[in-house]
Amino acid sequence: MPEKRDYYEILGVDRSASEAELKKAYRNLAKKYHPDVNPGDKEAEIKFKEINEAYEVLSDPQKRQKYDRFGHAGLDGSGFGGFNGFGGFDFNFGFDDLFEDFFGGSPFGTRRRQKPGPRRGADIKYTLEITFNEAVFGTNKEIRVTRLQTCGKCSGTGAKPGTSPQTCRHCNGTGQVRHAQATPFGQMINMRTCDVCRGEGTIISDPCDECRGSGRQQKTSKIKVEIPAGIDNGQTISLRGEGEPGLRGGPPGDLYVNIRVQPHPIFIRDGYDIMCEIPITFTQAALGAELEIPTLEGTMKYSIPEGTQTGTVFRLRNKGIKHLRSNAKGDQFIKVNVEVPKKLTAKQKELLRQFADISGEDAFEQRKNFFDKMKDLFQ
Ligand SMILES: [Zn+2]
Ligand SMILES: [Zn+2]
Repeated sequence: MPEKRDYYEILGVDRSASEAELKKAYRNLAKKYHPDVNPGDKEAEIKFKEINEAYEVLSDPQKRQKYDRFGHAGLDGSGFGGFNGFGGFDFNFGFDDLFEDFFGGSPFGTRRRQKPGPRRGADIKYTLEITFNEAVFGTNKEIRVTRLQTCGKCSGTGAKPGTSPQTCRHCNGTGQVRHAQATPFGQMINMRTCDVCRGEGTIISDPCDECRGSGRQQKTSKIKVEIPAGIDNGQTISLRGEGEPGLRGGPPGDLYVNIRVQPHPIFIRDGYDIMCEIPITFTQAALGAELEIPTLEGTMKYSIPEGTQTGTVFRLRNKGIKHLRSNAKGDQFIKVNVEVPKKLTAKQKELLRQFADISGEDAFEQRKNFFDKMKDLFQ
């Protein structure tokens, strides 16, 4: 596999780029390399994919944090010891949404005029941002959704109360009219949508003044959403029937609540595992220590052994996140980083010099091995 390019480089932005800058850069590039503008251009297609991948990661605060720390390895799981990457991640990142945002329409499924008859209501997408802990432990939320609803005044008929829609006389209520067309092979009969009733089959001569004859109106409603414990960033909760009402007796659409999880100040999540980095002093590393460490359920004591190296990862089984559909739990990983003091008093320096004098090289195994190898090389 060829070396992957840096996501920031792909989008041509700085590592410190704001969300708005990222979005702008993405938008410009996506327009330039969009397959619709470059039909049949393989290179543009690859670029377009690359741009989307980069933006998908960098526009998501959690994935971006991870990418910043561990690079591509942090995302595909080959990097951090013991982590298995984004195996459980839902990569359906709302490509559709991007297009609605950016190009004023979805490339998937344009609205087609249909014959009169029941029609299912449209689905609605809603993005809900929750905190890290809400995702871990679950919660109940109330969201406000503005959607088309059946007009209360006319009960959806579109006709003024007391009146009713009339059958269209032009098409006899079928919504379609026959249309004769002369061709070199003779006359051809086509069926066309009736333009008097626009295919509805009925005409409202006295429209409801609340919905202006559409039978539906925009309303904002409060909807309760149960967030299950263990849900992850990018996952979707489907609420059946909470979309827009159907037409002519058709079923309503669904409401899709896309979950965005805010990054945690300490923990990084990977599937059901969590990871945190803990700074320790070099004396704690050398002598061993009882650390006070953060877990999802508060702090706890954890002992590290004598001679702990910087970058060592410890695993705490079942201290991770509860699985969505079972009571199993992930693990917590702690990575300890040894911090070297930047300022020392004269007394501290003196003690360290004494330490160095009595230690010699033998106290530093890796260093000793390294210098032995170096000596062999240059003698
Ligand atoms: Zn109405
Ligand atoms: Zn008609």
